[in-house]
Amino acid sequence: MAFPIKVCVVCSEEFELKPDKPGFANRCPECSEPEPVDSITKQSVDATEPRTPREVNEARRQAMRDLLYRKDS
Ligand SMILES: [Zn+2]
Repeated sequence: MAFPIKVCVVCSEEFELKPDKPGFANRCPECSEPEPVDSITKQSVDATEPRTPREVNEARRQAMRDLLYRKDS
């Protein structure tokens, strides 16, 4: 089973476009996730271009994890 390979318009990383993928078809799953970071960092308006995709993804993942844990406890 092969899914079409797309290039994310946000982080320029390749990803498999799965039929049940939420969000935009031209964004990878990570970039399709809601961004809780946006409400915290107001700089995001100026940071339209991510410095390092990997760095941004890591930060986003951390933020998501923090939110999840906080919700849990
Ligand atoms: Zn992406």
